[in-house]
Amino acid sequence: MRFDIITVLPGLLESPFAHSILQRAQNKGIAEIVVHSLRDYATNKQKSVDDYPYGGGSGMVMSIEPFARCITALKNEREYDEVIFMSPDGQTLNQSIANELSGLGNIMILCGHYKGIDQRIRDLFVTRELSIGDYVLSGGELPAAVLVDAIVRLIPGVLNDETSALSDSFQGELLDAPIYTRPADWNGHKVPDVLLSGHEAKINDWRHEQALARTQARRPDLLED
Ligand code: SAH
Repeated sequence: MRFDIITVLPGLLESPFAHSILQRAQNKGIAEIVVHSLRDYATNKQKSVDDYPYGGGSGMVMSIEPFARCITALKNEREYDEVIFMSPDGQTLNQSIANELSGLGNIMILCGHYKGIDQRIRDLFVTRELSIGDYVLSGGELPAAVLVDAIVRLIPGVLNDETSALSDSFQGELLDAPIYTRPADWNGHKVPDVLLSGHEAKINDWRHEQALARTQARRPDLLED
């Protein structure tokens, strides 16, 4: 699966993809993540990618030309299943969207900055708009990294233990159960006996009960659906 991310601040995306699971996915050739600097597609002398908003008001608006040039250059090389704009007014990202997107081939992701991007970019090029939550960040880079992480870990072969993604919160209708590791007794705070019993069926029952109780307490809305 290939991701092309267009940003005015490519440096912000250097670290998130250079470690752990995301790095491994790239090393294994399962995911290719390419970051494009929007400024490379600016043709004016100052290499500026934004301008004042028509109609006045505060904040700069990212211009259509550099985006159009970059998107067109990428589309000339391959077909894209989705061109996604990260935006607080988009559909809120969730596990089911991540699952759906993890089955695709090529995804382009546009990162906004400042006040946002010229509406015509959204109208003409974007096929989907996603938010990572009801709060506003300075740019779309961190949301893009969140989106790519959520998707890549679901591609078969990325996680060593395939089942570990399946038991995660939101993968089914339940949140994840509590987890423990050694020591079994830390200053009198003990791990539940059942987890030390070696009895797989009992452990599975306990985990299911705990997951259910946690979901009822924290996210009863998940059980209503
Ligand atoms: N004026 C815009 C916010 C601009 S924030 C509004 O009120 O909707 C600048 C950029 O950061 C956005 O264009 C978007 O790409 C990104 N961004 C900010 N918050 C985000 C969020 N919650 N989810 C996804 N992208 C976000």
